[in-house]
Amino acid sequence: MRASKMLISTLREVPAEAEIESHKLMLRAGMMRKMAAGIYNYMPLGLKVLKKIEDIVREEMDNAGAQEFLASALLPSELWKESGRWDAYGAEMFRLTDRNSREFCLGPTHEEVFTDIARNEIKSYKQLPLNLYQIQTKYRDERRPRFGVMRSREFIMKDAYSFDKDQEGLDVSYNKMYEAYVKIFNRCGLDAKCVAADSGAIGGSGSAEFMVKSEVGEDDVVFCTECNYAANIEKAETKAEIAEIEELAEIQKVETTSKSIEEMTEFFKVSPKKIAKTLIYNVDGKLVGVLVRGDREVNEVKVANASHATSDIELASYEEVKRATNSEIGFAGPINLAVDLLLVDEEVSKMYNMIVGANETGYDLTGVNYGRDFEGVVGDFRNIEEGEACPKCGAKVTIARGTEVGHIFKLGSKYSDAMNATFIDENGKTKPFIMGCYGIGVTRTMASIIEQHNDENGIIWPLSVAPYHVSIIIANMKDETQITLAEKMHEELENMGIEVFLDDRNERAGVKFKDSELMGIPMRITVGKKVSEGIVEFKLRNGGENENISIEDVYNKIKDEFKKASIELKR
Ligand code: ATP
Ligand code: MG
Repeated sequence: MRASKMLISTLREVPAEAEIESHKLMLRAGMMRKMAAGIYNYMPLGLKVLKKIEDIVREEMDNAGAQEFLASALLPSELWKESGRWDAYGAEMFRLTDRNSREFCLGPTHEEVFTDIARNEIKSYKQLPLNLYQIQTKYRDERRPRFGVMRSREFIMKDAYSFDKDQEGLDVSYNKMYEAYVKIFNRCGLDAKCVAADSGAIGGSGSAEFMVKSEVGEDDVVFCTECNYAANIEKAETKAEIAEIEELAEIQKVETTSKSIEEMTEFFKVSPKKIAKTLIYNVDGKLVGVLVRGDREVNEVKVANASHATSDIELASYEEVKRATNSEIGFAGPINLAVDLLLVDEEVSKMYNMIVGANETGYDLTGVNYGRDFEGVVGDFRNIEEGEACPKCGAKVTIARGTEVGHIFKLGSKYSDAMNATFIDENGKTKPFIMGCYGIGVTRTMASIIEQHNDENGIIWPLSVAPYHVSIIIANMKDETQITLAEKMHEELENMGIEVFLDDRNERAGVKFKDSELMGIPMRITVGKKVSEGIVEFKLRNGGENENISIEDVYNKIKDEFKKASIELKR
């Protein structure tokens, strides 16, 4: 492709709106442009990469036996009402009405649609198993769209849905997807780790996320330092630390102005381990109190699961807290708390003589003990912390930030039950489909690859997803010999199946070098002064030196790079 014929939109300046490397580089390299918050247009260069990632995904999905499909993005509300998600999905769903006031949404995900297809099209166990996938645009009105296409409001997802006749079948389908995902991320040059994930209130027999480590990631991933345990913090189980035994004291009401845990530790001159904090959540309109030790963090996913939430849970409002505690904020405690459900972290149930809020403005209680003074549902409701015991082997865990690029999920019969999607089994009995769903954020994957492959000069694309494999830079556009040779190489390389960015613009060589590096083209050939001696310059974007080599050697070097990346050439 000739640069002189292309829309090239590289920027020298770092755009102020971009916070993270991939976002900055996608704008600077001219891969995309912002249209509105969380909404982007893909420029030709960005689209080329996107298509390459899609092709890898498509190939591996096809290899795994899945079949491509394309659903509408505009979805009638009826389907969502059947599954109960029209109400549950909340503000993240883009909703609209047509001219006849019929309700629709822009699909944030497609479980309902694929379940509907299955119930209409699949009658018999003989048609199972089946896995349908699509690569399609999704819409989510994210609370905080940010980091460019990492968290956008319109994004491209590969979503797949498997249908099996039983749990064993689902296990097989799920494992195939796991294996396909490992291959996809490997081929994209992305270091993604599969970690155990929460499967929510669905009863989940399995759910795993593919995470890339990233300081700007919005998830916390727990890794064991000894064994291979890795889990999203939402899922990682905790072991209760057992407090030292003390004789049970009497409850005492103490007047205090301290509200936060820090103020309380100072006021009572105790460790936060002696204090239990009470948080109040609104779960589907009901109030749920949660008690964790003063130095711990509530795990909202565990709380949502234990309280069978059907929509996102939120901290209770000021008014709700006042209603539950009959006091100002900062004095909530477990005794006489007016909530529908009280969840007590196991650690709190094992504390002695704890300090809690008194549910009375300006007062706390000391000498409080679980069982004697209050009761609730005891369980694991907190986040694991750095250095705590691994739930699998007991060694220490570490916690790192990560971004989810893919998710595989055993749904079971959640949707098929709700939507009455059934088939006839071997014995003539009607059974619900046993389903799995599997997502990959295609656009997020693109940004994540950049996060892992860049330097101060720009992007360093892995060969497999690079917009062009080779750039040929004509150093002096006034030199006919240079132009003729560059054009000849361009043609020959393209005949080999290599994508070439021929920089024939009337620009200084320096500008062309900079653009080639910024755009992350893996190999660079400079056709300059030595062309009369049959010599050109060759440089790998990924670190290599700029070498003077013969034209013959250039072809061999390029072939080597393709061999190393296990990508076949036409010839
Ligand atoms: P997150 O926790 O990051 O919001 P999610 O759990 O909502 O992700 P899924 O519903 O499992 O995500 O969607 C499947 C995949 O789609 C995710 O693994 C992610 O790669 C991608 N994805 C989800 N939301 C977005 C978004 N707002 N922008 C870009 N990609 C997204
Ligand atoms: Mg989300």
